[in-house]
Amino acid sequence: MAVQTVAGNTTSSAPAVDLGPAAALSCRECGERFDLGPLFACASCFGPLEVAYDLPTGSPEELRKRIEAGPDNIWRYAPLLPVPADVAEKPNINPGFTKLVKADNLARELGVTGGLYVKDDSGNPTHSFKDRVVAIAVEAARAFGFTTLSCSSTGNLAGAVGAAAARAGLRSCVFIPHDLEQGKVVMAAVYGGELVGIEGNYDDVNRFCSELIGDPLGEGWGFVNVNLRPYYGEGSKTLAYEICEQLGWRLPDQIVIPIASGSQLTKIDKGFQELIKLGLVEDRPYKIFGAQAEGCSPVSAAFKAGHDVVRPQKPNTIAKSLAIGNPADGPYVLDIARRTGGAVEDVTDEQVVDAIKLLARTEGIFGETAGGVTLGVTKKLIDAGVIDPALTTVVLNTGDGLKTLDAVSATSQATATIKPSLDAFRAAGLAAN
Ligand SMILES: *Cc1c(COP(=O)(O)O)cnc(C)c1O
Ligand SMILES: [Zn+2]
Repeated sequence: MAVQTVAGNTTSSAPAVDLGPAAALSCRECGERFDLGPLFACASCFGPLEVAYDLPTGSPEELRKRIEAGPDNIWRYAPLLPVPADVAEKPNINPGFTKLVKADNLARELGVTGGLYVKDDSGNPTHSFKDRVVAIAVEAARAFGFTTLSCSSTGNLAGAVGAAAARAGLRSCVFIPHDLEQGKVVMAAVYGGELVGIEGNYDDVNRFCSELIGDPLGEGWGFVNVNLRPYYGEGSKTLAYEICEQLGWRLPDQIVIPIASGSQLTKIDKGFQELIKLGLVEDRPYKIFGAQAEGCSPVSAAFKAGHDVVRPQKPNTIAKSLAIGNPADGPYVLDIARRTGGAVEDVTDEQVVDAIKLLARTEGIFGETAGGVTLGVTKKLIDAGVIDPALTTVVLNTGDGLKTLDAVSATSQATATIKPSLDAFRAAGLAAN
């Protein structure tokens, strides 16, 4: 059935699209299925749609070998993603297979004995995890015949869309709150697409984009996180796949994930579940923890209050990439944190800065504010006895500190400025002896 919930973007007369193992869209709330298309809300109950698959049926060993023989990017998992089988040959930014760093120095500092790892997604092409979700959305945009790639962004997504559109040969026009960090603005603009600053916060930007989709002005536009959202979301599953593969095809015991809209967290859980179902990892319990900044903590507040619904907030935090006051997937994050025995917690901006510097000082990884939020929450939950230091724990660093220099620039400056002479250096007291 070709139900259209988005005016103007109809593809119902087009031949069946080839998105590999993706079989249909299904409603997360009522389970109703729809043909693959640029849809995001269930026509019956308005629940969010997600991709349903015909997953591979061979033996786990065969599938594992096939994945391991694949390219060193997310396309090694193409049999589990809504992309055509020949995706690796198409012009795309090919993100993924970023480093899983065994963070022994950090572990010592935090008292973790069970193994602490940082999944460092600053190593992606535009230096954030958003390249993963955009790479998938680009394939959907191609399949549905969209000519302009767009998004509402808290910063990183705009850059990822700009870069991916440039590589794919698509036009791009992206929307951001007008007051983002300079690093994010430049990163979004440099790829040559259109960049529009909206006078408002992210939730205003998002509302504007929803209006644009329903208007003839937005005809032919693929908004990666709105009308392509079901496909976009699947990109985050690759974090789950990579972490397990890099741990030797094993689930982590605990994982700490930042929350903006909550999409990434819910899809990492989906990725773990798929690996279990496919027999690629042993079915063992794992706990998922969500991280927010205190200045934008609607999901954390709901978790602590025992609520099932998330009350929107007006964001005010330095962690702008996570500043979504009305997170679409908030209720699902609550479900997952509770189901797995995890938690959702928040930290102050000061703790965010401390955590950015802690990660840099102990492991040589310069994360952005979202990374500071995630590590800050990890530390807080270890100190509170909620995260078990004796278990294997993975912390995500989802972006690059170079994009949020302001967060640490006041306290990260030259130790001394001296004349180019040994006397001056001696006087500065920095010599080893
Ligand atoms: C977008 C983003 C996230 C999380 O986004 P979700 O909307 O929750 O999927 C995390 N970290 C960074 C750096 C981001 O840009
Ligand atoms: Zn439904």
